[in-house]
Amino acid sequence: MRTLRGSGVGRGAAVGPVARAHPSPAVPDGPADPDREAAARAVAEAFDAVADALDARAAAASGTVADVVGAAAAMARDPELVAQVRTRIELGQSAPVAVDRAVAEFADLFRQDSFLAERVTDLLSVRDRVLARLLGLPEPGVPALARPSVVVARDLAPADTAALELDKVLAIVIEQGGPTGHTAIIAGQLGIPCVVRVGGAGELRDGEEVAVDAAAGTVVVGPDDEVRARVAARRAGLAALAERREPGATADGHPVALLANIGTAEDTERLVDAAVEGVGLFRTEVLYLGRATAPSEDEQATVYARVLRALGGRKVVVRTLDAGADKPLAFVTRTDEENPALGVRGYRLVRAAEDLLRSQLRALATAAERTGTTPWVMAPMVATVEEAAAFAALARECGIARVGVMVEVPSVALRAADVLAEVDFVSIGTNDLAQYTMAADRLLGDLADLLDPWQPAVLDLVAATAEAAAATGKPAGVCGESASDPLLALVLAGLGVTSLSMSPAAVPGVRFALARHTLARCRELAAAARTARTASDARTACLALVDAEVREVLALA
Ligand code: PEP
Ligand code: MG
Repeated sequence: MRTLRGSGVGRGAAVGPVARAHPSPAVPDGPADPDREAAARAVAEAFDAVADALDARAAAASGTVADVVGAAAAMARDPELVAQVRTRIELGQSAPVAVDRAVAEFADLFRQDSFLAERVTDLLSVRDRVLARLLGLPEPGVPALARPSVVVARDLAPADTAALELDKVLAIVIEQGGPTGHTAIIAGQLGIPCVVRVGGAGELRDGEEVAVDAAAGTVVVGPDDEVRARVAARRAGLAALAERREPGATADGHPVALLANIGTAEDTERLVDAAVEGVGLFRTEVLYLGRATAPSEDEQATVYARVLRALGGRKVVVRTLDAGADKPLAFVTRTDEENPALGVRGYRLVRAAEDLLRSQLRALATAAERTGTTPWVMAPMVATVEEAAAFAALARECGIARVGVMVEVPSVALRAADVLAEVDFVSIGTNDLAQYTMAADRLLGDLADLLDPWQPAVLDLVAATAEAAAATGKPAGVCGESASDPLLALVLAGLGVTSLSMSPAAVPGVRFALARHTLARCRELAAAARTARTASDARTACLALVDAEVREVLALA
């Protein structure tokens, strides 16, 4: 048995045969094609065939998946791109070289535009598919799976991840990427065990049996009976937890609402039968992504009403548009910022485009009226009391009844009492709070240690916020990734956080952990975490205080 190590996403585990994603084809340095006209025709046909195949995949998918794959298909149909390739062939480049160079030129242009930059991976995956056709190689990316398998890849393009046959994917192992990368996030949302940054994953062979343990961040090659039994026990334990439906609460009945993070109306419709108490974070920017202009007020109202209706009166916290930095939008994000994460993003967009926020708030008020529900509406990236007050005034003027702000900037956590005097609730976004407290770019996998929400400074700011909220009796939730870590969830409950919002797949583990600890015990964990001097000491101290069965079933170590 060999053990490969990486960073795990989720608590799941699985054993199965490896199915390798086919790599991108290498571009042969061949001479010009003797028949240039025939070569140009072959290229055009290859682009068409790739576009048709992607369109077929998009048609079989729904929601964000369909959008992502459909956008890749549209790129394969771009007449400008095909024309560029033809010109290069006419000038004497071989077909594969012409495809490669023309795409590289487009990719460079895309990278200069913050809106298009996120599409570069899809453009490159179109190139790989076209090249594979021209060269008679297997289609790059994940092959059609004949049996349930562990998908192993160097990295997966968004279009590849989106096109996975979910009922046959037991686990995902990625050689590159990071815990905050696209594949990791999608896998987390779908509840598929995933391990990223796995050194040596490149040597795994098709059909070879592996045991993937996301909680431990390991991939065991050729697992023995003992490892298989351990995986089976974990799966049985997690499956049993997934059956439980009671509201989130500590062992002595102190309620901590368990909510879901969503991005689309389809996500909400999947929650209809889920054991969650509502939505704690609706990331509305997904509705705006990949568009040249903002969706109309009416279109927005229809989508928001669909979300509110699907939840049938359960709590829904909607976040207003959070564009900029890692979520660029073509029509509002400035491209001249030296430091976009510190620039005009989130609520700050109101400075340049108040109409955008106003129309979103009005659409939300219309949706509330149409459905007879009261959404909670909050603004991202608020930094001052004045901003909180201005947002609350605008939201109320537009007809929103419950108004809040996110705590993502340390200044707001430090002055939470004054901020809370202006709004009805706050929600702590620990992803950005960690980024801004630790001055570490959240997209840099190499800085994961600094971005760790167990950092004592981050926990201090969560504590300051929760204390200020408790003093006013107003709710303070957490909707960052930290809420999905069962051990940290206990600490957050102990600090006084009133709700935890996470990807739905993480809810059963957190529910179980809470149910096994009293509020007093959660407070002990919180005190232990805050007394520690380092993130790692904080975690170790808490682990020692956790119920043994919780540690065992959730594989906390
Ligand atoms: C956060 O910052 O923690 C958060 C929930 O918002 P997002 O991840 O969408 O920036
Ligand atoms: Mg955020």
